[in-house]
Amino acid sequence: MIRHRSRFRSASIYALLFVLLPLTSAARVTRGRTNVASSGMLGWSLPAGDPTPAGVRAEARRRLAEHAEGTYIGEMLAERDSALARWPNRTDDPLRVWVQPNAAIDGWTTDYVADVRRAFREWDAIQLPVRFVFSGDSAHADVHVTFVNHFDEEISGRTNWARDDDWWITDADIVLAVYHRGGPMLDDESMHAMSLHEIGHLLGLDHTVDSTSVMASKVRVRSLSRADRETVKLLYTLPPGGVR
Ligand SMILES: [Zn+2]
Repeated sequence: MIRHRSRFRSASIYALLFVLLPLTSAARVTRGRTNVASSGMLGWSLPAGDPTPAGVRAEARRRLAEHAEGTYIGEMLAERDSALARWPNRTDDPLRVWVQPNAAIDGWTTDYVADVRRAFREWDAIQLPVRFVFSGDSAHADVHVTFVNHFDEEISGRTNWARDDDWWITDADIVLAVYHRGGPMLDDESMHAMSLHEIGHLLGLDHTVDSTSVMASKVRVRSLSRADRETVKLLYTLPPGGVR
């Protein structure tokens, strides 16, 4: 069984189209952390208008109506019962990312670290209000990326993230497998693509049925699509939480 939350599953139709191995992942979301600095550090500045919760939601719906075209934010809203999760603004205080610098896994090389970092830099190049900086200090990192030999499930990556009651993401960690379950080792391009996908989850993105995007539940592409970029940019102009 393949674990993911997409309602769209397709195993065979792409097999003829893509020679690269499809990668799958799972995101696990927990709730209940309250350590986010949500007071005085809101990532979304309200325009002049109605500051009440109802007014904020109305403004979010207006922005969605105006900018959702060409994005998969509608799929995310359908998946999450009309609620969105994102990080607070971290422009001046970028998320500190620690990538496991060595691993006792057969065949593992430091090239994987470079693949992961390249993926972070590609998301960072969008210049979202949440930025990344690499850290060699795991104890003080906000985000940890670690490697495992393989998962018991048929996935190649997993992102665990937590949010508070206001839907602000409070922390996130990524685990990447070096081997497909029962299968070959990931090459650099696959590790890089898997990293792009998991970082998308880390930022608050969900799966899309669009197989040309890196956030497809089975990753078929090796770079960010326009829809990936536009969706995350739209997400970071919206307040977290429900929009209904
Ligand atoms: Zn995924």
